[in-house]
Amino acid sequence: MRTLEAQARTGVVVDEYGNTGEARAVRRDEAVRGAVERGLLGPDAPIVGLLDVTGIRESARELRAAFDSVTAPGTPVLHAFAVKATPLVPVLRLLREEGIGAEVASPGELALARAAGLSPARTVLDSPAKTAAELREALALGIAVNADNPQELDRIDGLMRSAVSRSPLGIRVNPQVGGGSIGATSTATETSKFGVALRDEGAREWVVRAYLDRPWLSRLHAHTGSQGIPLSLMVRGVEETYALAEEINRRIGRPQIDTIDIGGGLPVNFASEATAPTYTEYARALKAGVPGLLDGRYGLVTEFGRSLLAKHGTIVARVEYAKSAGGRPVAVTHAGVQVATRTVYVPGSWPLRIAAYDGKGRPKSGPEVVQDVAGPACFAGDLLAEGRALPLLDQGDYAAALDTGAYYFAHHYAYNSLARPGIYGFVPDPQTGGVRFATVRDPQTVASIVAESGGAHVGALTTLHAPGSR
Ligand SMILES: *Cc1c(COP(=O)(O)O)cnc(C)c1O
Repeated sequence: MRTLEAQARTGVVVDEYGNTGEARAVRRDEAVRGAVERGLLGPDAPIVGLLDVTGIRESARELRAAFDSVTAPGTPVLHAFAVKATPLVPVLRLLREEGIGAEVASPGELALARAAGLSPARTVLDSPAKTAAELREALALGIAVNADNPQELDRIDGLMRSAVSRSPLGIRVNPQVGGGSIGATSTATETSKFGVALRDEGAREWVVRAYLDRPWLSRLHAHTGSQGIPLSLMVRGVEETYALAEEINRRIGRPQIDTIDIGGGLPVNFASEATAPTYTEYARALKAGVPGLLDGRYGLVTEFGRSLLAKHGTIVARVEYAKSAGGRPVAVTHAGVQVATRTVYVPGSWPLRIAAYDGKGRPKSGPEVVQDVAGPACFAGDLLAEGRALPLLDQGDYAAALDTGAYYFAHHYAYNSLARPGIYGFVPDPQTGGVRFATVRDPQTVASIVAESGGAHVGALTTLHAPGSR
């Protein structure tokens, strides 16, 4: 109700899925207010992560609809959420309900996916450093595996000789189409550590032979990069991968590769409320650039992470103190490097929007003042935002870091032994006009910090002596 009223007020156009960035902003404002009212956020709980369940469901539906509208009827498509982006069991369960599977890259991520009830048939294992035991488990469970390199394929050969497996198996290639604006998330550079570097001397022929020699290799995988990769480059990465699959099937004389895993990596717009690019735009660009991929001869796997969750998460932190230094106002908050590690260490590549709320959790208005929004950690660079124009933050207000649903509050960094914040999901409550909350993750206790920091081994080092010393 409130959402519709707000749309009427702001005159915002509703998109084909009935949602707008404005609607999301309205839900978020309600959630911040509700969190303060409910005491989830306050003097004794000075930081939380909030997840917009409505928004997550909408993104999942947009993803499925976008690919449904460009693939031939009956094409098997598995959208496997990159668990790395938001490794939270209730999130994986919510996505499962929306028809989304899981892409995992470690024993921990696999365990999270299984705890969420994801079936092996809807799970893909991709890590670059799988141990022999991980591979054995994946093949025993029937989970799809993409071999990263020749040595890993050797290990899989050994396992395939010793037991039958239902696992769909493939090889990850690096199409070496180049990087984007952020080096750390560019996976298809000349020297990237991922996959078989396709343009290296002899590599393409090695890949073709690998399939010729192994009738059970039925998939081909590439992930061209994450944040900072332009859409056109992503399409080129997929084009190269598709061309290789066609070449392999031609050489073998039958469609041995039946599924292409195009990875994830759709970039997220952190500069405004708008979702851009959209899944629909990407799917249409694939249809235009690589029509053969979508004509029904290949099944598809995708591995989107950030684009599914980023815009649906918010970090909200209390302003503990407001001070001034060198003439610049500084709001000292409880959100810093522990929840926004990339932003704090590499602010140029990972800027975040900040929203100001008053002590009751209402959007703060007033003239904008250039200020720093600082975190709680004990080093000078622990800033969520530097020199940002915002309504002046005061003691007891709240600062929200927007678009932090992926790779932020679920990626705790234990600097200063700062506790992991509680995470709560929310949905609008039409009865009250407010929101309802559910706990996704409890806040970490100080006792658990001690336990995780060797508390059970307090005397371990003082009782350890070299033989004959003392
Ligand atoms: C990180 C990763 C993804 C997800 O990337 P996003 O940018 O979060 O969409 C998908 N596939 C692989 C192999 C990855 O490493």
